[in-house]
Amino acid sequence: MKKESINIVWLKRDIRSQDHEPLFYAEQSELPYIIIYLFEPTLIEYPDTSPRHLKFIYHSINALNKTLEPFNRTVNLFYGEAITIFKYLNEAYHIKSIFSFRESGIQLTWERDKKVHSFCKEHAVIWKESQRDGILRGIKNRDDWNKQWHRKMHTPILQNNYSTSKIGPLNHPFSLPIKLETELKTYPKQFQPAGELNAWRYLKSFADKRGSNYQKHISKPTESRLSCSRLSPYLAWGNISIKQAFQFVGTHPNGTKNDRAFSAMLTRLHWHCHFIQKFEVECSYETDCINKGYELLAHNKNEAFIKAWKTGTTGYPLIDACMRAVAQTGWINFRMRAMVVSFLTLNLDQDWRDGTYHLARQFLDYEPGIHYPQFQMQAGTTGVNTVRLYNPVKNSQEHAPEGLFIKKWIPELTNVPIAYIHEPWNMTMMEQTFCGVILGEDYPLPIVNLQESARMARDKIWGHKNHPAVQQEKNRILNTHVNQTT
Ligand SMILES: Cc1cc2nc3c(=O)[nH]c(=O)nc-3n(C[C@H](O)[C@H](O)[C@H](O)COP(=O)(O)OP(=O)(O)OC[C@H]3O[C@@H](n4cnc5c(N)ncnc54)[C@H](O)[C@@H]3O)c2cc1C
Repeated sequence: MKKESINIVWLKRDIRSQDHEPLFYAEQSELPYIIIYLFEPTLIEYPDTSPRHLKFIYHSINALNKTLEPFNRTVNLFYGEAITIFKYLNEAYHIKSIFSFRESGIQLTWERDKKVHSFCKEHAVIWKESQRDGILRGIKNRDDWNKQWHRKMHTPILQNNYSTSKIGPLNHPFSLPIKLETELKTYPKQFQPAGELNAWRYLKSFADKRGSNYQKHISKPTESRLSCSRLSPYLAWGNISIKQAFQFVGTHPNGTKNDRAFSAMLTRLHWHCHFIQKFEVECSYETDCINKGYELLAHNKNEAFIKAWKTGTTGYPLIDACMRAVAQTGWINFRMRAMVVSFLTLNLDQDWRDGTYHLARQFLDYEPGIHYPQFQMQAGTTGVNTVRLYNPVKNSQEHAPEGLFIKKWIPELTNVPIAYIHEPWNMTMMEQTFCGVILGEDYPLPIVNLQESARMARDKIWGHKNHPAVQQEKNRILNTHVNQTT
């Protein structure tokens, strides 16, 4: 029997119904199409992935299905490796084209995509990959990149219209394991709600109201939760495109009164793509020092330090509050992310690779192209950025002076007076007894001396900066133009 010819739209980090070129192309074609999302075991088991990411994806897809329901369209979920699924689909149908966005991911997804390309070649399937958010493939340098990015941001937003599908949901043998699907169905309230409508809700409330204090609050651990856009998970999983966000904020009537705040936010949308563009060219940033000269630096791996950092039990209240907050909610602001990385890699002198996957799993907005380069910038392994040591006590005093963020996330310290909340170790035993926390028992004493560890880190990282291997790499990096800093 002759197989039915179809097209496939393969959703990746683009779970939305509008400004979606692959879905647009599928609609333009005369052939029927199906929409698929693949839960790939190899990716799920990789250490950067956590159930919270999968939950966000699953609930984003449910939301998309509601939007597409009137058109008898649904996203078909598959549990299996991409090649296995495409082989299966190609046996059931004659696949003419696969439409997807291009993925600038880790080595693993790059390798997976290479296999899919070979499969397509072998079976005469056309795989049309659309450009994601101004990220270019195969560029030799970034000389013209900024201009091209801005040009792209000012092109019209694609309006997707949908025809009614004659193909209903597919019956296939690759459904999600019941245990996994049951887990994905529960969605903790503490996480930002998933899906396209929620992305727009967050964007609108930012531009209408919340964003007026954006710059004033951006570094404050509590206030930033309200005043930052909080668009990151929606951008990371593609519930909204960078262009949609850019044009909405850029043309919003509040732009005049919030000029500086909105400009700062728009700059960050540019950074978002700038970092992903660098990663697109060098996805080895996931595992190798950006400046290979820093591979020569030895670290004394200390499992107890790493565990204390991960569990928020270092004895430094702001560090611990951040690590516990991100574990519960999936989000902390930029400064707090930079500070916890600085603490792990500089004060605790641990290899940056001992923290990357942990934080990747914690961040609901995990985006490899931003995550690894940012992590390395804070760890001081790029060799081209100024290394910053974030003092957690100073940051606590300056950005959370009342101690409310600490008290929210570290109940052990609830009754500690403001005078001691940033440095509880200064309390006498009598004071500890009064406020119901004995240090070393109820809450840890600091695991390192702040001043001493900072001095040692400075000597080590700054001292290594002039090493010939670092200098040589620095020249190479600067000459390639692909690694410019922001
Ligand atoms: C160690 C470390 C790891 C990070 N990992 C991630 C990550 O996995 N995913 C991620 O989206 N961001 C990451 N960031 C960048 C930044 O902290 C978050 O984008 C930001 O806190 C998200 O909050 P928001 O959406 O309210 O941002 P806003 O301040 O409202 O900014 C709007 C958008 O701009 C982008 N953006 C903001 N700051 C940056 C930045 N410094 N670099 C690149 N893009 C930026 C994000 O897409 C963000 O959603 C990381 C930063 C550090 C220091």
